[in-house]
Amino acid sequence: MKVLKKSELRRAYLNRREAMGEEEVFLYSERIKRGVKSLPDFKDAKKILLYCPIKNEPDLTSLIWESISLGKEALLPKVDGDRLRIYKVEHSNQLKPGSFCILEPEDGTQVEPEEVDLALVPGIVFDAKGYRIGFGKGFYDRLLKRVKGVKVGVAYSFQVLEEIPVDSWDEPVDLLITETYILKGGKKYEY
Ligand code: ADP
Ligand code: MG
Repeated sequence: MKVLKKSELRRAYLNRREAMGEEEVFLYSERIKRGVKSLPDFKDAKKILLYCPIKNEPDLTSLIWESISLGKEALLPKVDGDRLRIYKVEHSNQLKPGSFCILEPEDGTQVEPEEVDLALVPGIVFDAKGYRIGFGKGFYDRLLKRVKGVKVGVAYSFQVLEEIPVDSWDEPVDLLITETYILKGGKKYEY
């Protein structure tokens, strides 16, 4: 079978995700959150990198507040030029009113990627080895290169393919979590 190009896969799977209904996104996001919380890596992590969902990405926003109430540090990435910088979420008024999950530009303590214990990474397509296709700017490739903690790809199961094109600069995640299974070291753990 011909392997589709990254750009073709990006377009096809973004469309497919955009076609999801609100209830499906909600239900699957709840399951993925349960999966994340079941990971020993989550329990052990002190500093957790999350993300603010766009375009129907799994919505793990409530994990920001749950992590904080568990005594962990919740971190969010913010675009700065061609890179992502990481900021600690210290209180809810740091997040823009209404949008709920977008950091205000000016504030917050910056954290270096090397300090992150667990990184939750959204994507458009993943493969079974943890390789990832994002929006096409390589933001997470550059960031993940510096992360020494556990990298977890977060996706719906339809976004996980057997094989995708990989470039020299692509950084894989260590495990994948979907609404029905965790994929680690080539093994699928259904839950
Ligand atoms: P994505 O991972 O978002 O799907 P790609 O892997 O296609 O995007 O990368 C997009 C661009 O980012 C590429 O053209 C590549 O040149 C650039 N890029 C990615 N990682 C690096 C890096 N570590 N150093 C320099 N450029 C990079
Ligand atoms: Mg890439």
